[in-house]
Amino acid sequence: MMVQYPTNPDIVVIGAGAAGVGAGRALAKTGIPFLIIEAKDRIGGRAFSEATSLGHLWDHGCHWFHSADKNVLRQLAEEIGHKYLKKPREGVMKAFMNGEWKAEQQHEEYVWGMLGEVAATGRAGKDVPAASLLDPQHPWYPMARHWLSLMYSAEPEEISTRDAGSYEDTGLNLAVEDGYGALIARLAEGLPIATRVAARKVTARGEGVTVETDQGTITAKAAIVAVPARMLETGKLVLADMPADIAQALQDVPMGYYEKVAIAFDGKVFEGFDMPYVEIFDPVAPTTHPLNFELHPFRRPIAITHIGGQFAREMEREGEAGMVDFALAALVRAFGSDLRKRVKKATATHWSSDIFINGAYSCAKPGRGLSRRNFANPIAERIFLAGEHVHPSFHATAHGAFETGLLAAAKATAAAAKGAAGGKQTACA
Ligand SMILES: Cc1cc2nc3c(=O)[nH]c(=O)nc-3n(C[C@H](O)[C@H](O)[C@H](O)COP(=O)(O)OP(=O)(O)OC[C@H]3O[C@@H](n4cnc5c(N)ncnc54)[C@H](O)[C@@H]3O)c2cc1C
Repeated sequence: MMVQYPTNPDIVVIGAGAAGVGAGRALAKTGIPFLIIEAKDRIGGRAFSEATSLGHLWDHGCHWFHSADKNVLRQLAEEIGHKYLKKPREGVMKAFMNGEWKAEQQHEEYVWGMLGEVAATGRAGKDVPAASLLDPQHPWYPMARHWLSLMYSAEPEEISTRDAGSYEDTGLNLAVEDGYGALIARLAEGLPIATRVAARKVTARGEGVTVETDQGTITAKAAIVAVPARMLETGKLVLADMPADIAQALQDVPMGYYEKVAIAFDGKVFEGFDMPYVEIFDPVAPTTHPLNFELHPFRRPIAITHIGGQFAREMEREGEAGMVDFALAALVRAFGSDLRKRVKKATATHWSSDIFINGAYSCAKPGRGLSRRNFANPIAERIFLAGEHVHPSFHATAHGAFETGLLAAAKATAAAAKGAAGGKQTACA
């Protein structure tokens, strides 16, 4: 089927995740002709909500407005009446270890204390592996590793304290009831987005830009490349004549891994436990690994668990059935085997093997905590990167990605106005 591109886009945006949508919304305000191309058949990228797999809405990717008091997407959600938790719930976490429920404070003190120390070490200018700050003898050591692997989607040995310290965490995190993916899709309404068009190569040519896609070649005055960093790192999308600083940053700041397992029950199975969040770590069980679950988010009869780092990658390789078994076994350890009879549906995410994502989010290697800055450098003055990996202080987040799109749009608009050769559509199929 023919894809109708707008004639002569001045700016082409590659990728319709939070960053591409942010760029699109900013470009739409300028009146400049532009086109967004997206390889998938849907909008949102790592922001993806759906209700089909479980019969209840859940987010495969982003779910929380992080640093919500400074979160541009939270403000937009407010404007359009997209529902989210207005204030954080208090006293909702409980932990299960060694076959019994533990007091919350034990966990708080070590795990959250450690996470704070990792960031503080980086802010003090020290760039060491997060793992070097952990005490392997501490009973909550595995849980601290687990949380680090979720926050940074990498193993603690692979996390730069300097990069961690550059993240601006205001401490306010609010879950998105109507779905974070659904929000990005709503914000994209009306934008010129051609889905199922995958870019293969971006080249600064003459005074413009050429984008080769699997459906023909597009020329424009400037381009915004808003694809996951791994697409560039692996050459799935080739940036011709890639500057050395950006090539280096792609090596220094790789994407990690993070998957979710989601289980639907026939009703409210955790009713006796008045808490939406639970951590389960039982060293007595032979194959145990710490897990944390959201139970009945927004009163839905579902449980969602999160796994990060290499473990997430390995689990995902094993396949969905193994991931579900693993998550359910942990719940059964804590809540009893009757739970198994109440399961209605179960599924898992596949970000690690998703051919247009291939990971979770970016995290700088130890000693490379400043390399991320290079992503913001323009290429040939008319190609601009956008995405979670580009943001200096809200990296790894959807709102950070969105902000980089806004900024890239302003830069691309200025570059196009400099009078580069007019964009021209040369082919489509
Ligand atoms: C499991 C998980 C949980 C998360 N939780 C949170 C959270 O609670 N809060 C939060 O703020 N963030 C969270 N994040 C991170 C957040 O989802 C991402 O940082 C953000 O959505 C990234 O947006 P982006 O626009 O940079 O990239 P993406 O959303 O990945 O968008 C890039 C787009 O480019 C497309 N693309 C790729 N290659 C091509 C090509 N060759 N041609 C055309 N298009 C292409 C992709 O299909 C994709 O749609 C989570 C991520 C994961 C994986």
